[in-house]
Amino acid sequence: MRIHDIHQQLAELGAKPVHIGRLTRAWLNGQALDAGTRHQRSEDFLPLSVRNGLPGVKEALDRLARVSSEHPAADGSARLLVTLADGQMVESVLLPRDGLCVSSQVGCAVGCVFCMTGKSGLLRQLGSAEIVAQVALARRVRTVKKVVFMGMGEPAHNLDNVLEAIDVLGTDGGIGHKNLVFSTVGDRRVFERLPRQAVKPALALSLHSTDTRLRQALLPRAPVFEPAELVELGERYARQVDYPIQYQWTLLKGINDSPEEMDGIIRLLRGKFAIMNVIPYNSHEHDDYQRPDTERIHQIMRYLHANGVLTKVRNSAGQDIDGGCGQLRARAEGIVQA
Ligand code: SF4
Repeated sequence: MRIHDIHQQLAELGAKPVHIGRLTRAWLNGQALDAGTRHQRSEDFLPLSVRNGLPGVKEALDRLARVSSEHPAADGSARLLVTLADGQMVESVLLPRDGLCVSSQVGCAVGCVFCMTGKSGLLRQLGSAEIVAQVALARRVRTVKKVVFMGMGEPAHNLDNVLEAIDVLGTDGGIGHKNLVFSTVGDRRVFERLPRQAVKPALALSLHSTDTRLRQALLPRAPVFEPAELVELGERYARQVDYPIQYQWTLLKGINDSPEEMDGIIRLLRGKFAIMNVIPYNSHEHDDYQRPDTERIHQIMRYLHANGVLTKVRNSAGQDIDGGCGQLRARAEGIVQA
């Protein structure tokens, strides 16, 4: 279901645009649908036909997505396992400091070798209403002021729905544009569409290697980009919107933590309007990939900083409960054993 379908349903009940906006804002804020419509100015009163139809709309929205379990972690984050109307499941993550990480697809076609979500392939797209429903559900639990599209799925592969969700979150959802973060492995359509959007989100680009061939091996079904071209396109967007690109680098021991890679990062990012987010891999028993030692992570940070690359270490939220994106759903569906 798309947000447009919900608006259509309300319009068919007799709601005018002013009513539709108000009802959408109430939903996205996790409130009762008729919140704020009873004691306001006369033009805000809902027509009787709309009021009578609201229980049906509420039922449809409740069916769209529901939290089937919540998994709080020691770092203040919490993973929500969200069940959709057809029984498919996705994950949302409540992040410390009022952030929320949302999913845009069930599964993912990119198949990054270090990602659990990628193992299942793409099962289906989420409609824009299912994407923003994750925000509405999270706001029943906590304040949400920032939404990052870094959960399950590649947002560029579901571009129309994700951009529609971003538009509504940046308007009726009351979220500042730079607090909406579109995260992608890189896709030319993203660089064409984002600059034309009314709501221009911040952009996170998954780099992971400065070597084209290694990058392709790590992200097997991502569009092929020379890293330098990706950074060039990112820089153009960053200058246009006036907020930096966040580069993502999942740090894998012995694979992309070499001095050559670090020098490659410096060549690409020194002087750019960019932040490098180094995310040490969260390894598990019997895992093909390992997290580098803490000392090596500190060395990398010092080296990149000393050479003019603003670098932050980011740990995956909720490491003590379920590691990376897709673990929780995989466990719920029995893809991996707990
Ligand atoms: Fe897809 Fe992101 Fe996982 Fe890669 S890391 S497989 S893009 S969900």
